[in-house]
Amino acid sequence: TYILAIESSCDDTAAAVLQNDKVLSNVVANQAIHQEYGGVVPELASRAHQQNIVPVVTAALRKANIDKKQLSAIAFTSGPGLLGSLLVGTSFAKSFAMGLDIPLLDINHMKAHILAHFIDEEGYDKPSFPFIGVTISGGHTQIVRVDDYFMMEVIGETIDDAVGEAFDKSAKIMDLPYPGGPLIDKYAQLGNPKAFPFTKPKVDGLNFSFSGLKTQIMYFVQRQQEANPDFLKEHRDDVCASIQYTIVNILMDKIKKAVKETGITQIAIGGGVSANSGIRTALKKAETTHSWKTFLPKFQYTTDNAAMIGIVGYLKYKDLVEKDSFQNLEVSAQSRLKI
Ligand code: ATP
Ligand code: FE
Repeated sequence: TYILAIESSCDDTAAAVLQNDKVLSNVVANQAIHQEYGGVVPELASRAHQQNIVPVVTAALRKANIDKKQLSAIAFTSGPGLLGSLLVGTSFAKSFAMGLDIPLLDINHMKAHILAHFIDEEGYDKPSFPFIGVTISGGHTQIVRVDDYFMMEVIGETIDDAVGEAFDKSAKIMDLPYPGGPLIDKYAQLGNPKAFPFTKPKVDGLNFSFSGLKTQIMYFVQRQQEANPDFLKEHRDDVCASIQYTIVNILMDKIKKAVKETGITQIAIGGGVSANSGIRTALKKAETTHSWKTFLPKFQYTTDNAAMIGIVGYLKYKDLVEKDSFQNLEVSAQSRLKI
């Protein structure tokens, strides 16, 4: 089975070709244009997708060394995401599938972040069911109970900012360029995490809140700068370390709570923030102190990419073949699609 997958939910145009659960090619075109604005501008994103989609798909097929006539199905992200961006991928996938007369599979982006763990990749173990999926990215923060490929339930999520946003907005307060998450991580490794204690928000259950932390950091930096205009210059590393320490603690507290409530000790992390060294270290430590088993996919499959859409496409295709039910594949873009 060969699947062509297309992802265009936010600011990356991506295409991948999979042979069953193996990735043959995984192409991503980043949109540098948003950097100037300190965040993703939906109108510009949509236009860039239109420019990128044909070259990105062509490159994915070429790198996989696959002719489009060999494809079994086309998988694409139907949501959630920016509507104008989703529509570019959706209409392209639809017409491509129609032209080739092959099935079109609509894929939920958030499920794909979790099922990316099932891509066959040397040196990477796959979780077994049930497991807890934790998606931490620029747009999302979710804890998901996963009982099967297509049986999953969100048991906790952010009520305001995503964790990646918390990193990026904190970085902005510190005058670091967008996206600042990786820079906070870099400087945090040079600083003292206990230099400046920030308070953690009190949120019920397994939900998260990060907007209060951002406000707290903003007032803290303002206050310090009034007393010492060079505060950020002199204490950058300690401030970064303290911010990261607080965010990692917030995440780990909720993951521990999810483990306690479900009795599940396999934790599979995805999303761009899973690159963070603080969260990685904390998870590795929990493997010994709490006997958890943690899963971190290859980095190129954790940020927005089409390979993860392809693996869900493959699993879905297999399921449809088994059930012999390819009729009724009427699909459209949905910006607020739920898991
Ligand atoms: P989504 O996946 O929710 O649609 P997205 O495209 O913004 O949104 P990703 O590409 O998965 O998400 O992740 C980008 C986010 O990850 C940014 O907020 C970035 O700052 C953050 N990030 C990346 N590396 C690190 C790191 N080492 N430490 C902290 N944050 C990081
Ligand atoms: Fe994503």
